[in-house]
Parts: sequence; C-alpha cells; structure tokens
Amino acid sequence: MNIILAKPRGFCAGVTRAIETVEKAIAKFGAPVYVRHEIVHNKFVVESLRKKGAVFVDEVDQIPVGAITIFSAHGVSDKVEEDAVERGLDVIDATCPLVSKVHREAKKYEEEGCEIILIGHRGHPEVEGTSGRVKKDVILVTDENDARNVEIQNPQKISYVTQTTLSIDDTKKIVEILEKRFPQMQRGLATKDICYATQNRQDAVRSLSKMVDVLLVIGAKNSSNSNRLRDLGEECGLQSYLINGAGDIDAQWLVNVENIGLTAGASAPEVLVQEVVNRIKKISKSEVSVRDMDGITENTFFILPKKVRK
Ligand code: SF4
Repeated sequence: MNIILAKPRGFCAGVTRAIETVEKAIAKFGAPVYVRHEIVHNKFVVESLRKKGAVFVDEVDQIPVGAITIFSAHGVSDKVEEDAVERGLDVIDATCPLVSKVHREAKKYEEEGCEIILIGHRGHPEVEGTSGRVKKDVILVTDENDARNVEIQNPQKISYVTQTTLSIDDTKKIVEILEKRFPQMQRGLATKDICYATQNRQDAVRSLSKMVDVLLVIGAKNSSNSNRLRDLGEECGLQSYLINGAGDIDAQWLVNVENIGLTAGASAPEVLVQEVVNRIKKISKSEVSVRDMDGITENTFFILPKKVRK
C-alpha cells in the first residue's frame, strides 16, 4: 500500500500567524487571553491553545472589560470592532491579511457607489465579517442558482467580492453567470479573492487525484477550505473522506485500495497527518510506503500583529 501526501497541504501563512498571535499574547500578557470565535477551524488547535490559557467566546460581551482580546483569522465586522472598543477591550487582530484585503476591496466598491455581491457560504464567519465591513447590505450569492436569480437594483453599478476559501471551479462558474447577466459588473479575475493557500491545495489535490484510489482530507467539518478539498476529490472521481484525524478512519474505506491520497486543510496541523499515516500503517496488512507528491513549496509569510511582535 502507498500513501501519497499532497504538497502543499496543511497550515497556511494566515493560520500560522493566528496561532502564533495567541501563543505570543499568552506569553507576553499572561493567561487568560480571550479569543472571539475559534481562532482557526480546527478542534485540535483550539484545544491545545485552550490548555495554554486561551478562552474562546462567541461574542465580545462575554469578555471581561479591559481584557486582551484576539479576533480570529476569519475577520470581524465593523460592529464587532466597535463593540470591542465600547467595552474597553485590548484588541489584537489576527485577521488573515488576505481577508483584510477583501474587506478593503468591499469598502472601496461601496465608496464608488456600487452594489456589492458577496460570493460565499451563508453563516461562515468570514462572510459575516466581510458583509459587516460595508454599510449597505451586501447581496449574498452562494451558488449558481443564486447567481441566476439574484436581483440587482442598479445593474450599471455593481461589483463582487468572494470568500477566500471557495472552490476555484465553482467560483468561476458563478462569476461567469453573473457577468453574462450583468455585463456592466466590474470585472476582474473570477478567483481574485481566493487565497494562494486555497488555490495551491486545490491544485495539489487535482494532481494527486490522478495517482490515487481514495482521498483522505484532514480538516474540520466547519472548515470551508477542507470541505472544498473533499468536494474536489469527489469531482475528480475519487471516494473522498473528510476526517478530523486518525480516529475517524474506517478500515473498510481502505479495502482493496493500493494508493491512498492524503491531504490536510489550511487549518489542520502536520501532527494529525503523521497520526493518520501511523493509523493506516496499523490497519494495512501489507507494507506501507509514504512519500510526498511533487508539488510547490510555499514561502508566504505574514508578520505578526504589532502588539505581539518583540
Ligand atoms: S486559508 Fe487563506 S485566507 Fe484563510 S487564513 Fe489561510 S491564507 Fe488566509
């Protein structure tokens, strides 16, 4: 049996920065530090930070006045920022810089007087944050059906932004429909807001899918980019499973399988990949070889927020 590991896989620069922000804040200011929302969508990461002294809350009104408060990598709305100021919280913003870029883009379109379409998943914290960065209501488009039916007040002045972790292929199809319906829509590359990490992990799965019989994706059920990797595996014709870690593997999935593709979403740590490899070795009756596929090496790096830099 062979395990072929996707390259790249796992942590992106935004996730690494967010986790380091929490760790450095605890080291510098002492526990507890409060984090609004899961810092990244991964239970293993959240639990390990909890043990170090992070307290995770849903809203800023659950945080004691004046406490160190960290916003998650997914970003927040203007309202959340204002509420935090009103409560006198000492905020450290761990929003991924690539999400902040989309926030700025949405604000710019609003200043230009455009109606703004936001392509993304309803209820995802990044979508809530981006929607709340403009004063007017954004028009949420979640799929091709929405794109076919969405109504715009002034089709002459319309722009779109997207969530950073969408499927490249789905986004292209959605934008194509919108461009046909609204020829005046401000144009750009359909995938302009999808981040490098999402793009690279999807490209890797596309290549990997040609070499394997089954795909395992390590990632949380609420992790958008991990779900898209699983979906892409399915689209490429593979039985594909999204797993939290080694404990979720059903030995039946590997019966008569020779080549297993293994990847991890942008918020899943490498330690979970190693645990999955070890579990497969235990399940397999034959020798298991493990290798990385040929793929790009990422070297994107984001500097930490000022308050936790040395
Ligand atoms: S997945 Fe992309 S947008 Fe999200 S934290 Fe990572 S680099 Fe930033």
